[in-house]
Amino acid sequence: MSKRNNSSRGIHVLRDDVARKIAAGEVIDRPFSVVRELIDNSLDAESSEVSLSIEDGGISRIRVIDNGHGMGREDINKCFLPHATSKIRNVDDIYNIKTLGFRGEALSAIAMCSHLEIISATEQAQYGHRLLVHGGKRISLEESKSKKGTIVDVSSLFYNMPGRRKFLKSASGESYMCRTTFTEKALPFPSVAFKYSVNGKKKLIFPPVSLPDRVTSILGDIAPAAGFEYLEDKKDEFSVTIIAARPEIHRNDRKHIQTYINKRKIFEYGFVQAVEYGYSGYMPGKDHPVAYLFIEINPELVDFNIHPAKKECKIRILPQVRQCIVSMITSFAGKFTINVDKPETSFTRTPEQTAFENFSPIDWSKDWSVKQESSAYQLSQGTDQPDRNVTNDISKDNINEETETPKYFGQLFGLFLIAQFREKLFIIDQHAAHERILYEELLTKKHSLQDLLFPVSFDVTEEENEYIKSNLPALLKQGIKLEKTGLQSYEITALPAHFHSIDPKDIVSILKNSLRSTEEIEHRLMSLAACRNAIKDGDLIDHLTAQQLISRVFLLNNARCPHGRPIWHVISKEQLFKILGRK
Ligand code: ADP
Ligand code: MG
Repeated sequence: MSKRNNSSRGIHVLRDDVARKIAAGEVIDRPFSVVRELIDNSLDAESSEVSLSIEDGGISRIRVIDNGHGMGREDINKCFLPHATSKIRNVDDIYNIKTLGFRGEALSAIAMCSHLEIISATEQAQYGHRLLVHGGKRISLEESKSKKGTIVDVSSLFYNMPGRRKFLKSASGESYMCRTTFTEKALPFPSVAFKYSVNGKKKLIFPPVSLPDRVTSILGDIAPAAGFEYLEDKKDEFSVTIIAARPEIHRNDRKHIQTYINKRKIFEYGFVQAVEYGYSGYMPGKDHPVAYLFIEINPELVDFNIHPAKKECKIRILPQVRQCIVSMITSFAGKFTINVDKPETSFTRTPEQTAFENFSPIDWSKDWSVKQESSAYQLSQGTDQPDRNVTNDISKDNINEETETPKYFGQLFGLFLIAQFREKLFIIDQHAAHERILYEELLTKKHSLQDLLFPVSFDVTEEENEYIKSNLPALLKQGIKLEKTGLQSYEITALPAHFHSIDPKDIVSILKNSLRSTEEIEHRLMSLAACRNAIKDGDLIDHLTAQQLISRVFLLNNARCPHGRPIWHVISKEQLFKILGRK
């Protein structure tokens, strides 16, 4: 057997400089980690201006200049030593952190693997000082003329760690990550001015502004500032500010759902889910919203000391914060329901309901679709009379007969209903429309359960068990009757009739994969049931049914299907005239 070449027998304690180089790699693994740490230090020093310049993707040089409180001779002499920090004293202090740094490891890690130069001066001192450290060893410390503040210059990064250098990307790749880090740092500190230059050329300047202005100036390429709204909620132990994009602005990834907790960018999946949940129903299913969350939490309730780069944290009041985010986003997104301009007329629900009494989407036994052979007959029959019935009923209460009643013309491509309403042409997606109507019916419906001939059994994890066990009554209210059949197994024993069209496996999967919130389970179940029961693309429907469906559609509060797709496309008379060159 061949001997693996680096497995020397016998234990030895690593030399101090080797151990420190290894430890340094955990904090500083690329140029952008230097950028992150130096900007953090400038912000902790209460600077009102921070400038970053990089050369060659940060590999040749990274320099950060700030106008913060600076360091005196004694401090500058210590700042690059391992575990040297002015930010905490005792272990308990990390449970009440108000600064970005606290471990006292960044400068020492940077010092280990680069040529480091620091020039710093405090307000009081007549002179500043200049420190030079190469590969962790102090070369010199001398007096130097300088303004209040600090300049940290890091050159020849990883010059003594060829292994690490090999892992670096091209200069432009590293440069891109430095720029991203720079903007991430600038976002939550809008009152601080930030400047960024690359190879001597100015690239970005962020003057001091308000938070919404900072966010929208950085997101300028995604949407104009008018596309965003500023949401705010304050609770005892935390406050949440959200710069939220309107639902029509969306992306195909989650890159722009970002969370800052106490001004630190954090990844917390629970918050991403909360945001997506809040927008769901107002945005097409595969798309992701754009929302920036700035959360301030009592530092005693957050632990940032669980990740080497502080990218994750533990929040003791996570569910409360998540709930707050969901309700802020839901009420914001809810404003963007697609509505016909109802207010100026008396076109309200009451006369409608009487007019369309016989329209019964709740009647689940009724077959909505009229299959091929009979459809021609049904459609021609329909054209003869139904319009008049409908119009007569609504035309009371001074509603203009011609324009205030939706008028149906026919079906296009087997799935779009063509209608006129108030001088506008509506192209209505029959499936989406029916789906939304059924969905709203279901939400208010009392579920009468029917026993399943074959109960559906499934296993659960411990966590799922906890949730299901304590929510049995709520689930029953939503129509799922469960029986516990083992330590970690259940059976669905009864469901309402309108769930019978759903594959029980889907119900189980909804149960297991929801936000752990009964509202989400309800939303998903009802959308699925609505989808399964709604008329499908290609189903032909008779004239009267179509007319009734359309009238109901105009009473909806939100003209989107439960998955967020719009129900219709509208073309106004003016638009049509313009398209066809008429005056
Ligand atoms: P930490 O930030 O965790 O304290 P660092 O190694 O990043 O550890 O910095 C060590 C110390 O050096 C800081 O605690 C701070 O006192 C001082 N320091 C570093 N950068 C600056 C700066 N730009 N301005 C003023 N003081 C600084
Ligand atoms: Mg630091």
